[in-house]
Amino acid sequence: MDCDTCVVGGGFAGLNTALGLAERGQQDVLLLEALQLGHGASGRNGGFVFGGFSRGEDRLLEDLGPDRARALYAGTTNAVELIRDRIDRYGIQCERTESGVLWANWFQDPEVLRRRQRLLREHFGVDWQWVPREALREQLHTTRYGDALFEPRAFHFHPLKYLQGIARAASGLGARLHERSPATGLRRDGNGWIVDTPAGQVHAARVVLACGGYLAGLRDRVDAGVLPIATYAMATEPLGDRMDEVMSTRAAIYDTRFAFDYYRPMQDSRLLWGGRVSVLDRSPDAVARLLRKDLLKVFPQLEGIRIDHAWSGLMSYARHEMPQVGRIEDGLWLAQAFGGHGVAPTAFAGELLASAIADGDERWRELSGYGLVSAMKPAGFVAAQLQYWWLQWRDAWKDWREGQR
Ligand SMILES: Cc1cc2nc3c(=O)[nH]c(=O)nc-3n(C[C@H](O)[C@H](O)[C@H](O)COP(=O)(O)OP(=O)(O)OC[C@H]3O[C@@H](n4cnc5c(N)ncnc54)[C@H](O)[C@@H]3O)c2cc1C
Repeated sequence: MDCDTCVVGGGFAGLNTALGLAERGQQDVLLLEALQLGHGASGRNGGFVFGGFSRGEDRLLEDLGPDRARALYAGTTNAVELIRDRIDRYGIQCERTESGVLWANWFQDPEVLRRRQRLLREHFGVDWQWVPREALREQLHTTRYGDALFEPRAFHFHPLKYLQGIARAASGLGARLHERSPATGLRRDGNGWIVDTPAGQVHAARVVLACGGYLAGLRDRVDAGVLPIATYAMATEPLGDRMDEVMSTRAAIYDTRFAFDYYRPMQDSRLLWGGRVSVLDRSPDAVARLLRKDLLKVFPQLEGIRIDHAWSGLMSYARHEMPQVGRIEDGLWLAQAFGGHGVAPTAFAGELLASAIADGDERWRELSGYGLVSAMKPAGFVAAQLQYWWLQWRDAWKDWREGQR
């Protein structure tokens, strides 16, 4: 097959790029997905749609200074609005829940919340509202947390349904999407590229690699730039009225620890619960056992609850914890390394790449300081796991100290 742009990877990064191109009138887009659209992190995630990157705002500010940091952060909050807009424009049924997101303090010391609230307000023009612990306890029926911050412009949804919606939109605008079509080779062909698949070849003027933590195996440098890191999720049985024993809010919630719990009430009254980070991809049974313990620490009233589904997914992390987005060779583009904060940033990246390819827009260069640095595998895995243990131990220690007071 021939095309102008061949996108490899059918997650949010690839599909947002394909849709962005199709929306700009570039109809000659062909996307290859090795398995099914949404097979990777994009179809498995928690469904939190919020601004920011995996690299925290404080470090973004240190790296880039106030103006550039604010502009990049705004790219992600604008992406939240773009996602909203696309849900409306394309009539995507994805259980959108407009109840905001709560960042609940696992600890009693409120300083971590105050610092972030101040930083966001002063440097990023974003107002997260203070929720005192008494008010939080009315919303979440647990004594586990201190105070919280509330992000009102954030929302949550069913990520796979949304992904299928943007796939339909892209294909309605002329993009050709091929599942069960792994790209197995990539080579130059004059000014363009040949992408091999088991059943044929794609001849493309340009190629976009968007394979996240599922590593395409097409360019060593690209795969070497990220560590695939696992995180876990599960869905309980439908809780029906028991949901009221747990929470009266419909917000999505995560906490202030390094390896935080994240959860949200689904529209069929299940609780989607996620958490933990590890270099190990575990079986569904093992995931359910681990996460059930985490859930009961927060909501002991759910003892005996049935877990209907459990799964893990791979995130792609660069050493700098920022996305790697942009042109890496003539006609070869990249969007990967969104980490655990990928729903909005992949929409931002898709726009950057689509407008670069369609209109020569150079805004992607704002991210080029966070390029393809080696993740130093396999030593990087060991270093990452040691760092996770250290940060988890530090949180556990702080928790224990507070318990002694
Ligand atoms: C359990 C979990 C919970 C998360 N929760 C949230 C959340 O609540 N909010 C948030 O913002 N982020 C969350 N994230 C992170 C977010 O899901 C990711 O950052 C984002 O989905 C990454 O998208 P992607 O397109 O880069 O990668 P992926 O979605 O992983 O897509 C990559 C695709 O490339 C395909 N592929 C690989 N190699 C080839 C090849 N050779 N040929 C063709 N196709 C290939 C794979 O099959 C895969 O479908 C979570 C992640 C996980 C795993």
